[in-house]
Amino acid sequence: MIKQFLQKVFGKRGLPPGQISEPGQTSKKGKSSAMQVISASKHKINPKLISQAALKTCDGLQKAGFEAYIVGGAVRDLLLNHPPKDFDIATNATPEQVNKTFRRSRIIGRRFRLVHVLWGQETIEVSTFRGHHQSEGDGETNDSGRIIRDNIFGSIEEDAVRRDFTANALYYDPKRHEVLDFHNGVADIRAKTLRIIGDPVKRYQEDPVRMLRAVRLSAKLGLKLEHTTEAPIRKLADLLEDVPPSRLFDEMLKLFLSGHAIESIGALRAQHLHHGLLPLLDVVLEQPLGEKFVMLALKNTDDRILAGKSSNPSFLFATLLWHEVLQAWLENQKRGEPLIPALHLAMNEIIDKQGEKMAIHNRYTATMKEIWAMQPRFEQRSGKRPYALLTNPKYRAGYDFLLLRCASGELPEELGEWWTRFADAGTEERTSMLLPDSGLQKRRRRPRKKKPAATNGESA
Ligand code: ATP
Ligand code: MG
Repeated sequence: MIKQFLQKVFGKRGLPPGQISEPGQTSKKGKSSAMQVISASKHKINPKLISQAALKTCDGLQKAGFEAYIVGGAVRDLLLNHPPKDFDIATNATPEQVNKTFRRSRIIGRRFRLVHVLWGQETIEVSTFRGHHQSEGDGETNDSGRIIRDNIFGSIEEDAVRRDFTANALYYDPKRHEVLDFHNGVADIRAKTLRIIGDPVKRYQEDPVRMLRAVRLSAKLGLKLEHTTEAPIRKLADLLEDVPPSRLFDEMLKLFLSGHAIESIGALRAQHLHHGLLPLLDVVLEQPLGEKFVMLALKNTDDRILAGKSSNPSFLFATLLWHEVLQAWLENQKRGEPLIPALHLAMNEIIDKQGEKMAIHNRYTATMKEIWAMQPRFEQRSGKRPYALLTNPKYRAGYDFLLLRCASGELPEELGEWWTRFADAGTEERTSMLLPDSGLQKRRRRPRKKKPAATNGESA
């Protein structure tokens, strides 16, 4: 009874809930018996792939008397001999202690407090080992079991158990060159397997985004989803509806920019995870022209990323939602809206509708709208208009978008080719390329006449 009470108040390890272990306390005797220490000769991590900023961060924390490890995706990528795109550090120092250790650092986050340590251009994310929640109803989970806050600190082994996949629960100590493996992650990586830690249903209920992560990471890393990890996903897909739209956006953005978007979308569909995420995934993929357009855009993005180039999220999301915009544009015209206002209305309608499920950041929506708004202007090839369009600061994005529309069969190839030539041509050639004024432009140019006074008996 007394023991139970003490456990409730102080947690299993005798620490008050929310407090971390002292530096050094989790080493050796605190580690699970199942933990394996994998030495440099076995793991064969190439130290040249590790960022100097990550090494300095670990070193700074260790010199201050704390434990510090490179953790998560970076260790997984190092074991696969992929250069990691970012480095996370896990430590037994509290965010305040980390903040005090590094002059250029700041504490961020609410749902998950952590510290950003800045080294020149590079930012290293440092998180304190997370512990177990004390009980249900502790305010950290909602009614469906989703974790809404995660700021209970704990030991390294508790931290490992809370991570999503075995391949992501590896800790690399750069000083000893050792990998600490609590869930057989190294063996899973070698067997090309992505396996969730713990009871899959419970882990997906705690955080449904893990289902998207499973799909994304398996496509990106060429790992096969282990059977029990994969099995419940279809049944639990609806849980994604409960996830805040901004978080879904962040995860989908990672998926689209992974270099393996086509594969990931295929897997999302196979797992029935696509419903409701983006209208495109529900509707557009079912229209032959829409699917062709989206797949071309994703293929373009994948090729760019795999070639080490950047890809603009605004452009990508503009393509993903285009066929929705097109449809709404047509409907607005049928309702009697003029061409251009009908398009602007459609753009706003679709962005708003999308925002209910997966909120695209404002910094992207402005450019998306510019790209869309430019499209009817590509069809005007007479007078001064084509020259004006060329000077638009977003011309290149608008033109690339046009080429995709042509390639997908939505517009004649000839239109894209015309713009390719026009942009490169000299003055004379440009003049000769212009088409005669279309009715639309003539109508627009005609100055508005004042109503003449009714002098000859005709009504105005
Ligand atoms: P990427 O290579 O795309 O960055 P990642 O696995 O590193 O993949 P991050 O979002 O950077 O993904 O997360 C870093 C680490 O944090 C993960 O490797 C994992 O250990 C842990 N993690 C991230 N998201 C979750 C989650 N939803 N549930 C549990 N652990 C998570
Ligand atoms: Mg990462």
